[in-house]
Amino acid sequence: MSAVESIDTEPHCRICDSAGPFQLHRVRDMMFGPGDHFDYRLCAACGCLQIAAIPADLSRHYGEGYYSFGERRAPGRLGRFLVRARNRHLTGQFNPLGWVLAQRRPFRALASLQSLSLRPDARIVDVGCGSGELLLALQSAGYTRLQGVDPFIAHDLDLGGGLRVQKAELDALPTASFDLVMFHHSLEHILDEPAALRAAHRLLAHGGRCLVRIPTVSSHAWRHYGVDWCALDAPRHLVLHSRQSIALLAERCGFSVCRITDDADAFQFWGSEQYRRGIPLMRSGCHDITPAPGVLTAAQLRHMAHRAEQLNREHQGDQIAVELQRVE
Ligand SMILES: [Zn+2]
Repeated sequence: MSAVESIDTEPHCRICDSAGPFQLHRVRDMMFGPGDHFDYRLCAACGCLQIAAIPADLSRHYGEGYYSFGERRAPGRLGRFLVRARNRHLTGQFNPLGWVLAQRRPFRALASLQSLSLRPDARIVDVGCGSGELLLALQSAGYTRLQGVDPFIAHDLDLGGGLRVQKAELDALPTASFDLVMFHHSLEHILDEPAALRAAHRLLAHGGRCLVRIPTVSSHAWRHYGVDWCALDAPRHLVLHSRQSIALLAERCGFSVCRITDDADAFQFWGSEQYRRGIPLMRSGCHDITPAPGVLTAAQLRHMAHRAEQLNREHQGDQIAVELQRVE
């Protein structure tokens, strides 16, 4: 076990305040290689799984290759044309080429915005955006009022065309200045989730919405793989919500839940199968999140993709997009 800030001798749930009972799970860090173990508690009252003790130096557990901060590869002219067609399609400007490309190279973060029917001049902030990949995709699809914020990047980023990513906390942004605040797989990394959602509420203008994409324990993958479930990502993921607990948290922070969409993919299977075999996600010299060569066959991977889509339809996927409406 790693050094910890405090050992909680009288545990309570950080989401619903319940004093238990809790089911204990010991989870291994498998991002960069078999690493330390961390204890997690599953709250019987709200169903969320949370790390028992916050590691004293969390940043130590984010190596240089952590995926949010990866280098962007600039596509050529044809690449930019194809990417733009796909991105426009995924944001509601339907076109046949974009449809084909979206089938072949899905971009789930962008697809999760479809149901919001955002206008191109919508004011959007992406919280925990890393190097700003999603914001650049939105920019290429014609959105003009975009901003990123991420406290963990090394410095502010200027991505061109007026698009900036600020190295800052949410508190640094002006009140009532956005139509959409979005957390794409960033909320589970934040120490104080209630504070983050209350900050999102404060940042939203009248009628604003919040989109939260997170992994969930209300899924086949958690039940099947347990502590080998790859989306656990100990110790970086501090809370793994149930569908019940994210709704409870949102309502306590001034939101109503409009829609929950399952948007998981085959990673839940191949990542977890690799964890079971002791194969880390980021192998030496390889920072792409792709299946390790020779572990699974192409046919197995196709079956996993098919199974993931089936689970999404049954609301048993391990990743969800939660659309929240600001309650005035
Ligand atoms: Zn709870």
